Amino acid sequence: MTKKWEVYAFRYAAMPERYEAELFIGGRTDANWGMDYFFWMLRSGEEVIVVDTGANSAKMPAKGRTPLISIEAALAGVGVNAADVDKVFLTHAHWDHVGNLDSFPKAHFWMQQAEMASITGSDMTFAKIRGAYQSDEVQRLVGLVYEDRLTFLDGDGSFADGVDYLFMPGHSAGQTALQIETASGPLLLASDAVHYYREVAEELCFLAFNDAKEMLAGLRKCKALVGGNWDRMIPGHDPQITWRYPAETRLDNGDPVALRVDLPAMKPLEL
Ligand SMILES: [Zn+2]
Repeated sequence: MTKKWEVYAFRYAAMPERYEAELFIGGRTDANWGMDYFFWMLRSGEEVIVVDTGANSAKMPAKGRTPLISIEAALAGVGVNAADVDKVFLTHAHWDHVGNLDSFPKAHFWMQQAEMASITGSDMTFAKIRGAYQSDEVQRLVGLVYEDRLTFLDGDGSFADGVDYLFMPGHSAGQTALQIETASGPLLLASDAVHYYREVAEELCFLAFNDAKEMLAGLRKCKALVGGNWDRMIPGHDPQITWRYPAETRLDNGDPVALRVDLPAMKPLEL
């Protein structure tokens, strides 16, 4: 029988004001979407897979983001010690996803070969593409290769029993999503192949990309995978995740941190 996984989204940072015009081609200047920042964890019995490592909290204020909790504290809240984690899957290498690689000193990492080729090659001569990455973080990823701690993926495949990875380039050259078996059925953890539910429902064109046409094709692929059932999809940055799913841990002010996105949503989706 296929293994079933619990899926956690940790809301570690937020940007309460993020207007549609800053997010999508042709977006309205007066529509505030906000943006939440997540990293994820899959758990099945004793087995833990961390998905992405969030942004480095020291770098966030200068970029206008408010860090809410360290990733170590977020994991500790659900009984996981970051220093003991042995598997970290990287969906892509944008700064808000690989900012805390050294918080996982015992971990092995997995990432698409296409992402590494992009972030160490001529793509980075374009300032607009390079802007989503941090030089020190890219250098740290190269360091992990030299430490035999990074395995390259090439396209689609199986990562673990009940966890498949799906290559969805466009937003970045190596953007990858995960299809995860849960007790309530398959769940597509889209990461930034989709940032917001409305982005995929309306086929909106996000303003940060490596290849716009590939990115739009990825939206269609995600839509087809969930067959129009949006509750089977977890986008990378939608604040609706924070307010629709059951929270296992909260900040002192009551705002959710650890969200169980494999459980049924508590509120209907707004599209
Ligand atoms: Zn992101």
